Amino acid sequence: MLSITTELTAQELLSITWDDLKPYYQALENTRISPDNLGEWLGAWSDLIMVVTEINNRLYISTTRNTTDIKAKEAFKRFLDTIQVNVKAFDQRLTEDLLTSQLVPPGFELGLLNLRTRAALFTERNLSLLNDQYVTATEYDEIAGSQTVEWHGAEKTVAELQPLLVSTDRDEREQVWRASAERQLADRAALNGLWVRLMEMRNRIAINAGLKNFREYRWLELSRFAYTPEDCHRYHDAIEAVVVPAVSQLMEEHRQRLGVEKLRPWDLLVESLSDQPLKPYETPRELEEKIVGVFEKIHPDFARYFEHMRAADLFDLHNRNNKAPGGYTLEYPVSGDPFSFLNCVGLHSDLMGVLHEGGHCFHFYDTFKFGNIQYYQQFNPPIEFAEVAAMGMELLALPHLGKEKALLTGRTKANGFYDPADHRIAEIQALRTILAFLPFMSVVDLFQHWAYTHPAAACEPANCDQVWSDLWDRFLPDADWSGFEDIKATGWHRKIHIFSDPFYYIEYGLAQTGALQVWLNSQRDYKGAVKSLRKALALGGSVGLQELFATAGIRLAFEREPLQVLVDAVMERIESLTAQI
Ligand SMILES: [Zn+2]
Repeated sequence: MLSITTELTAQELLSITWDDLKPYYQALENTRISPDNLGEWLGAWSDLIMVVTEINNRLYISTTRNTTDIKAKEAFKRFLDTIQVNVKAFDQRLTEDLLTSQLVPPGFELGLLNLRTRAALFTERNLSLLNDQYVTATEYDEIAGSQTVEWHGAEKTVAELQPLLVSTDRDEREQVWRASAERQLADRAALNGLWVRLMEMRNRIAINAGLKNFREYRWLELSRFAYTPEDCHRYHDAIEAVVVPAVSQLMEEHRQRLGVEKLRPWDLLVESLSDQPLKPYETPRELEEKIVGVFEKIHPDFARYFEHMRAADLFDLHNRNNKAPGGYTLEYPVSGDPFSFLNCVGLHSDLMGVLHEGGHCFHFYDTFKFGNIQYYQQFNPPIEFAEVAAMGMELLALPHLGKEKALLTGRTKANGFYDPADHRIAEIQALRTILAFLPFMSVVDLFQHWAYTHPAAACEPANCDQVWSDLWDRFLPDADWSGFEDIKATGWHRKIHIFSDPFYYIEYGLAQTGALQVWLNSQRDYKGAVKSLRKALALGGSVGLQELFATAGIRLAFEREPLQVLVDAVMERIESLTAQI
């Protein structure tokens, strides 16, 4: 069978055209799949997916590393218009061919289930509607991106002002918060209008696919085979019973330390344990050299992976002019490397960001090197577990962020970021952030469960405001919002996922509870916890979510009891660290 070579350099990959690829796709389409050629056929398709994925990722990455590079933009657009569009059409037909053959390649059961589910959702009637929905959702970016306020004589985007919410000057925090919130509220009508249009499209998409509502549609589209909407509800109830009181206790201590009568919405992000923000490093080089030491202590392989990436320019960590915002990790499956992108400027959150993306990269290497994955279709893990790898790396790094004794006494070259007091604060912040995230995640998720199962009611924005407000009071009761009821009620306008990626959010909650279990395991047996995690990393996406969690020595749990164990451990740790500050 005609199959493409994957022995290709980056240069060779980037010179590939659709005319080069077409014969390989045609050969696959013209082959009648039989038990004899099944493995070879799937392998040839897998090689093509690897080649196309790497070209796509290389071209996209170039556009983000230098946003003024017109040639890079053109090359990416040319790829989408000439290669990707044809690949999509062929992939759809090849999927149908494989499904009609009724053959199941050994170990490919899950891959087949994914393909079958997506093929079943496919209907001609949704083709233009899905595209319209995608394009319409991007209006959210335009609206949010144009939200600017005048701040001390300069025009700033609302996003740019957010770091000031950690200012130790309460008046400044309040001014920033009010200016941002009022500007966002000015787009209320526009966002309500956008929401109603999206709701109508999404409901039609579900009905066209023969499903009861858009929740059913999205569940299948997101391949959520390991849990149901009912599991999510049990999980939210558990969070309400166990996490909300713990967060309230932390908030009350925070209020006392701030010395304020009531916590207002602008008091929630400032650190009350110290009057200086954490400052982990001064120069980019310092961050890179010290973080190797942290990875070394988690596992020497991770330090080697990082050093290799650094030498091969696969980690673009630091902020500079003409770099796209945000952070991500993408893979080069042909070359056998991942690539990570961040915008570090010297904050503690930047350090955590590098640890997080490092987790994604090491996941790639462990799957690639030890995974024994036969087909690329089985390579990528489900998001819920991919994020355990990344969030788990952040937590596994916590014990190693302190300066080594030798450095504290100034005697020798050594590693570490923080002196003992700041190290404790860094650890508290990491744990506290996870606890505080879970109730917020519940609000975002539950709002969408309601909206897509009550489409008629949810097409009335006033109902959405009411539901969001009630959920907010239930899960996040600690701040006093009086006088800002409209801002509270329109909180759903400020969560991009609700507009752009419906229902994509609980993944982060499940991953955080998974990562906390890895952390708890590491308290008892650090090496053992890392070893189990890596066993699961090596599996890539070849097995289901339950099995990935189990292999990592953790559970995909939705009930109250296991969550209580985690929350107790976190609260105990925070308490003991706080007592030492
Ligand atoms: Zn991530």
